[in-house]
Amino acid sequence: MSDDIDHPACSNKRPIVLVVDDSPLVHRLLKARLRDEAIELRHAHSGKEALDIIHGNDIATVLLDLNMPEMDGFEVLRALGNSESGTHVPVIVLSGQQDSQDKVMAFALGAIDYITKPFDLAELRARLRSSLRLHRLVRMLSERAQLDGLTGLWNRSHLDERLEQLVTTAERSNRPLSVALLDLDHFKSINDNYGHPAGDAALQGTAEILTASARTSDIACRYGGEEFAILMPETTPEQAQVLCDRIREAMEARHWPAHPDRKITVSIGLCGSDGATGQPPEQWLAHADAALYRAKEGGRNRVIVTHLGKGRPRLAAAG
Ligand code: GH3
Ligand code: MG
Ligand code: MG
Repeated sequence: MSDDIDHPACSNKRPIVLVVDDSPLVHRLLKARLRDEAIELRHAHSGKEALDIIHGNDIATVLLDLNMPEMDGFEVLRALGNSESGTHVPVIVLSGQQDSQDKVMAFALGAIDYITKPFDLAELRARLRSSLRLHRLVRMLSERAQLDGLTGLWNRSHLDERLEQLVTTAERSNRPLSVALLDLDHFKSINDNYGHPAGDAALQGTAEILTASARTSDIACRYGGEEFAILMPETTPEQAQVLCDRIREAMEARHWPAHPDRKITVSIGLCGSDGATGQPPEQWLAHADAALYRAKEGGRNRVIVTHLGKGRPRLAAAG
């Protein structure tokens, strides 16, 4: 799989570690002591500020003080446990409290480790690295659960998640978005005539073409069976149509070793908008699916575009 496309293997940024403490001294100390670690350090001075940062960022570990005014560390742990984005963030409590009841409570609320202040630097580093390993592992597992085993593309579950986010963002910021559904033409006959492995190879070849054609910000998914989807943020229907035509032509031109004389074509239904539409995510898929149906009906190996806007969707044919 190429690195040009939105894909888990592409994330090589430094992990973000968030220090949450009401004492400026602790922030200064940790900044100096953790300077040589391969991490990006962020700072929150209250529980409320910490929650805001955690919800808007991919935080790899939180170093959390317990004793803070207004919202203390226990409340932060409780809030994280109750939020979807917070439950996967490992939290190491950094506290002046030696009390075993505090430790028991912190672990019960989801902390993965507890270090008492004043801390030993070597121990803090070792425990932080262990937490970062845990975070990497959890992220890898959750990404793997969103990948399709045969093609390596994102799967349906990831598509649903990202579509929801992208539609929300495009609607809120009145920006372009396009969504394409692709279905291989007469695919059943590939399986029937050349065997299931040849069918699988065709699905893998299709995934290669999608990956090579799509841009960095596009999200290519296996939607199910021999259907694929591409989410194209910041892309007008006209721009998306150019991309889809390129894919359609690349499919038509592709040589398949298992059946050199049999081409495989693809029908594509595309729906897109230059700005806000007022349509929920499922309507975007429904319009792309309706366009795909028309592409099939119209003779296959073509792209049909629906322009979503404030008014009624407009259909256009291409390819
Ligand atoms: P159309 O042009 O109308 O889309 O015809 P089609 O033959 O592509 O559509 P149909 O839905 O009748 O057949 C889809 C086929 O895709 C049937 C199924 O066996 C095959 N298929 C689905 N998933 C896989 C897979 O993972 N591997 C293989 N080899 N075949 C698959
Ligand atoms: Mg199908
Ligand atoms: Mg098909």
